[in-house]
Amino acid sequence: MRLGIDYEKIGLKVGLEIHQQLDTSAKLFCNCKPELFREEPELTFLRSLRPTQSELGQVDPAAYFEFQKGVRILYEATTTTSCLVEMDEEPPHPLNMEAVEIALRSGLMMNAKPVDEIHVMRKTVIDGSNTTGFQRTCVIALNGDVKVGEKLVPIQHVSLEEDAARKMGQEGEIIRYRIDRLGIPLVEVATAPVINSPKEAKEVALAIGRVLRATGKVKRGLGTIRQDLNISIPNGALMEIKGVQELELVSLAVEYEVQRQLSLIKISEELKKNGIEENGVKEEFFDVTDVFKQTKCKVIRKTLEKNQQVLAVKLPKFKGFLKRELMPDFRLGTEMADRARFWGRVGGIFHTDELPAYGITTEEVEKLKKAVKAEEHDAIVLVADKPENTEDALRAVVERAREAIKGVPQETRTSNPDGTTHYMRPRPGAARMYPETDIPPIRITEQYLKHVGSHLPEMPEQKLERLMKEYGLNKKLTKQISDSERSELFEAIVKESQVSPTTVAVFLTETLKALKRDGVQVDNVSEKRIREIFMSINSEELTKEAIPDIISWLSKHENKSVKEAISSLGLEVLSKKELEKIVDKAIRASKKLIEERGINAFGVLMGIIMKEVRGRANAGSVSELIRKKLEQ
Ligand SMILES: [Zn+2]
Repeated sequence: MRLGIDYEKIGLKVGLEIHQQLDTSAKLFCNCKPELFREEPELTFLRSLRPTQSELGQVDPAAYFEFQKGVRILYEATTTTSCLVEMDEEPPHPLNMEAVEIALRSGLMMNAKPVDEIHVMRKTVIDGSNTTGFQRTCVIALNGDVKVGEKLVPIQHVSLEEDAARKMGQEGEIIRYRIDRLGIPLVEVATAPVINSPKEAKEVALAIGRVLRATGKVKRGLGTIRQDLNISIPNGALMEIKGVQELELVSLAVEYEVQRQLSLIKISEELKKNGIEENGVKEEFFDVTDVFKQTKCKVIRKTLEKNQQVLAVKLPKFKGFLKRELMPDFRLGTEMADRARFWGRVGGIFHTDELPAYGITTEEVEKLKKAVKAEEHDAIVLVADKPENTEDALRAVVERAREAIKGVPQETRTSNPDGTTHYMRPRPGAARMYPETDIPPIRITEQYLKHVGSHLPEMPEQKLERLMKEYGLNKKLTKQISDSERSELFEAIVKESQVSPTTVAVFLTETLKALKRDGVQVDNVSEKRIREIFMSINSEELTKEAIPDIISWLSKHENKSVKEAISSLGLEVLSKKELEKIVDKAIRASKKLIEERGINAFGVLMGIIMKEVRGRANAGSVSELIRKKLEQ
């Protein structure tokens, strides 16, 4: 436990929302391929953001703000991965029943009760990630549970929804999205907020992920599973963290968020004790461009060359608080910079807790203090940019400073690759949903339920036990193979070849992982080829030691056979006669050594010979032969 925090004692509550892409043959509401494209887009189209008012009359403030700024969305597409449905030019087709079945099966495996009728709903999403301005979603099953260790974690609902378009970048007022991902079916599993520690959060995510993978119908690889977390502690705030892509980061994200909130609570208490009130932070901005006329600070000089300005604001009694660390390498000042970047589109901020620095001198800081009439315990924040941007940025800084006095602001944050998070947008109100009138409800009949429920896949624990018993693998290896996407391949190979289960399992987990780490594109080698490799070992045309070289070669020659790999690499297994010749030669060359050490020369000989025949002879047959010869 980091910092020795007793999470139970501080009252941490975490709920998870797992989003897993399904491996279906078509998208959720059309027949397009559920795949991402890597090439250049075939077509693009430009749309404006429409901050539509939902039924409850709420407008997402962040979306409205972007709309005001004239933000437009450039959508990129190819014709195999999207059609008129994704472009919102044609109504959605009926719900993909293959996806319904997988979601239903997942729900049943988590003891959830299927709904009588599936109703597709629209959830307002106005950041441009959906061309329609909403995301379609439907509840499939309710009130389940998943067992994690000794605890039964309640599952609130299992839903089916369409994935959103993926953001590719932003250039000025144009945001680029690819609609290939839009409409890929996702199953969403939401737990009750009953998780009490970072470690438990990870375990629950892992357990749910295992059940979903057990359906055998989910996509694999980075970006195909995304975890959203909602985290709260008493006196803090309910925080939503979106898009944690790696399991390892789930516990870290919780740890950091607790750390962040505890620090913010402490800052708030201290600020209050110092007698500063929210209305004491004023939206009073000072044009301090003149202070930096001769500056050596590159960022500011560049702005001034473009005739832009430097604007400053005073934060009374904030001195020292902006450099307070909230997460590793992340301070209250960083939090203000995030806000300034988001609302003001500036590159960042400068503040007096870190000055003089960046080419800004002590003399300039003194002038700055005078210009804004700052007293000893005040902090100053400044931004250099276009006048309208600097004002928006400082307004956001002032708001964040006022929130710092109050406590922890409710936010939606996004996960960074290191487990820390950054500001994404203010937290919207409760999910705004209304019925999707283009799609009729679907009844779940007894008969259909019976059909789906009659062949539920093996649960992860059962599978683990069975694999261990049936194949005599150790626990660690069983876990690895059972969790891997190649567990079916493992069973197929073991059944058709005489190769030992341990050898196959080690290859499918550790060896492939190691090869991948070395840059071999192991995913280019099909399961069919891998089975061929083991059949060749079975018929003694190939040695186990040669497998890595064969895989590496096949990854670069996708349509070639294992036989071709063997002959191209010169890895044909030596005949008994050829091997005997090599052994005899080595024994003759080491005659003196053998006379001195007798049978103890074995190890040295083995090393010499294996070096020569690696990949062309089994270590077993070599050692047998050497022993026989030495005994003679
Ligand atoms: Zn389509």
